[in-house]
Amino acid sequence: MRERAYLREVGPRDGIQLVKQFLPTERKLEWCRAEAEAGVREIEVTSFVPASVVPQFADAAEVVRGVSTIQDVQISALIPNVKGAQRGFDLGVPMLNFVVSASEAHNMANVRRTTDESIAEFRKIIAERDRRGLKDKTRIAGGIATAFGCTLQGEVPETRVIEIARLLAQAGADMIYLADTVGYGNPAQVRRLFAAAVKEVRPLKVGAHFHDTRGLGIANVTAALDVGIQHFDASLAGLGGCPFAPGATGNINAEDCAFLLESMGFDTGIDIEALRQLRKRIEAWLPGEAFFGMVARAGLPKTFVRASKSAA
Ligand code: ZN
Repeated sequence: MRERAYLREVGPRDGIQLVKQFLPTERKLEWCRAEAEAGVREIEVTSFVPASVVPQFADAAEVVRGVSTIQDVQISALIPNVKGAQRGFDLGVPMLNFVVSASEAHNMANVRRTTDESIAEFRKIIAERDRRGLKDKTRIAGGIATAFGCTLQGEVPETRVIEIARLLAQAGADMIYLADTVGYGNPAQVRRLFAAAVKEVRPLKVGAHFHDTRGLGIANVTAALDVGIQHFDASLAGLGGCPFAPGATGNINAEDCAFLLESMGFDTGIDIEALRQLRKRIEAWLPGEAFFGMVARAGLPKTFVRASKSAA
């Protein structure tokens, strides 16, 4: 049987959270529509943070309502706390992503809480979902940011990352994500940490959220594949950055990640050429932003065959 791999587009959230100019709601919806047409099946469309903190997400509710009308695409959204989760529940978002930083310093800078306080918040979110009778309707993922190191704190103990994964799983997470928020991870570390996390939270799935800050993002995807990871976050054109990592590039590039997966025989369902066309549109919408990626520049090789169309 052909193996599946899942690429979740996070550009409309992670990709543009630091973009100063407000991307009009209609553009965000056009982006998601074109992604769905290109075969992307999951999109993180927004973040339920206060508009005063990130003005880019002032239209979170409109975006969710708009994307909800698009066929064949699952919406997910980021939630920083119970308040954000309430907004997600009210809007019927089927997948909510809670994030806690394994680095105490980063968590404090990000949400002004200790890591333990954030895990307690996660328990409240799960309890609130269950109280509303949404257990089967709304999945909640526990994401662990700065799992591979931190610009503020430096080293993040792997034992702590695995402990947090266990606590989130015990609290009722439906899935766990390990995130290399600042692009410190290397393939050896990725193999080690993901293998340990998978073992710890089985049967929950573990997804990977890599940033390409130092050029190892795609290498880290192959390392994660080696230990059985099938879920990857990526953003179109590699948009994004981190407020605590000056000069950082964004998420791993969606076109390059899809190319890697498809050319290795993992069926993503994605039409990479369609993503390249969409990217051209988005470049025109966001003048002055940095766009990354190799496949967009060089095009697909003549020998390329999509996994779904290959004989393997
Ligand atoms: Zn990120």
